[in-house]
Amino acid sequence: MVIISRLKEKLKVLKSFKLVIFLLLVLFGMIPLSAYSVLSAKLYLSDAISQRISELQSHATIISNLVVNSNFFANDDVTELNTEINQVAEVYKGRILIIDKNLTILKDTYNLENGKTIISKEVIDTFDGKNSRYINNEGQYVEITVPINDTVTREIIGVIFMSFSTENIFVLYESMIQENIAFIAVFGVLVIFLSVIAVRTMVKPLKTLSNVIEEVASGDTDIAVDYKGYNELEQIAASYNHMLEKLSITEEARQEFVSNVSHELKTPLTSMKVLAESLIAQEDVPAELYREFMEDINNEIERANNIIVDLLTIVKTEKNQSTVVVSTVNINEFLEGLLKTLRPIAAQRNIELVYESFRDVTAEIDEIKLGMAINNLIENAIKYNYDDGWVKVSLNSDHRYFYIKVEDSGVGIPEELQDRVFERFYRVDPARSRQTGGTGLGLAITRNAILLHRGAIKVYSREGQGSVFTVRIPLNFQV
Ligand code: ADP
Repeated sequence: MVIISRLKEKLKVLKSFKLVIFLLLVLFGMIPLSAYSVLSAKLYLSDAISQRISELQSHATIISNLVVNSNFFANDDVTELNTEINQVAEVYKGRILIIDKNLTILKDTYNLENGKTIISKEVIDTFDGKNSRYINNEGQYVEITVPINDTVTREIIGVIFMSFSTENIFVLYESMIQENIAFIAVFGVLVIFLSVIAVRTMVKPLKTLSNVIEEVASGDTDIAVDYKGYNELEQIAASYNHMLEKLSITEEARQEFVSNVSHELKTPLTSMKVLAESLIAQEDVPAELYREFMEDINNEIERANNIIVDLLTIVKTEKNQSTVVVSTVNINEFLEGLLKTLRPIAAQRNIELVYESFRDVTAEIDEIKLGMAINNLIENAIKYNYDDGWVKVSLNSDHRYFYIKVEDSGVGIPEELQDRVFERFYRVDPARSRQTGGTGLGLAITRNAILLHRGAIKVYSREGQGSVFTVRIPLNFQV
């Protein structure tokens, strides 16, 4: 295990951006050059050898013509031929043999085999009509055989056998390779040097950006990253700033929420403290007054409790799909159930509660969470209504969604505040809300629950005339 973790630690180096760029630069610099050096040397070698062969072949043809024209096989004292042969043999550092039909060597530039019989496959093949050439790279020589044809009969009357060393070509080839290796080595050092400089230049702006981000991160989050340079890095800086902005908005919202919660909880606590203190300050307080104050204190406790319960509900419903318990529910029965529990409250103020359903709807919902949401809407419609008013709840659907509408004849919401009523702790008329036991969290909970169902909620309202809240929920629950 220790070895593996150490190995992993070492392999981390390979993840370095610097190292990868450096290796790529070196590879791109070295591979083409090395390939070119090797190829050019090889090309030179094969070119030089084939050129040597074609030169020798043309000399062989000249010699062959001289042999025939000078009637060499009948008269072996032919100076012109001898001079040519010896010259070629000397210039190309090789050996030339002239062989007659009986495989007898009539001329050997080395003067070693004159008059002897040659038994060589290449020579016999040439008599059989095959021009042959044989190159031995390892032995570093080439052998060429060329037939000598009678000018009249075209019959092969002899063979010229040439054996030449290609050693000087190989020597040149090897020195070329050595030169190339030396060049590659020098070039390699240069490439490495330049790559190091290139990598440093490339990585430097990244470091600069990372340092700027680091500075901003360790300091005040309100300061944006100020980076001017490469477009791509400017983009990263812009994204980072965008993220900072979002974070600061979230942070502001969080702070506002905490201060709202403290404020909301402080109000009932302050009331309780005032009530309790005034009881303590008085002596011989009548029992009725005690009872009255205690009732008030109890109401405040209930208020604080309501706020805490609502806050917990908000946390539970907030963008947390994992807490959703989905079941298939008959929405008509579901709404009738909600209305049944609210009827006594409406009746207290003689508010008529009407239910209208356009069709039978069955949908996949979290009954508890959506129940809470719709309950809040109907409760508000009753709360923010006039005595003897009405509340109408209606249900409709199409092939994808079902729609619940809660209408009331109540006080309405001023147009400019209609969007804000879904904010936590927002109340149009705080005094009225408190009086009716509202926490200002009801519509925030409602909206959360509806969003959990991938639904939507809208409000239309006229001050003094009433409000309409419309809810749209998919029939099938979407994760
Ligand atoms: P609250 O606990 O104050 O009722 P809500 O979040 O449920 O909190 O509602 C926020 C505010 O929106 C309320 O304080 C009220 O001013 C306004 N409101 C909500 N529903 C209605 C309605 N049906 N008619 C008029 N005003 C409403």
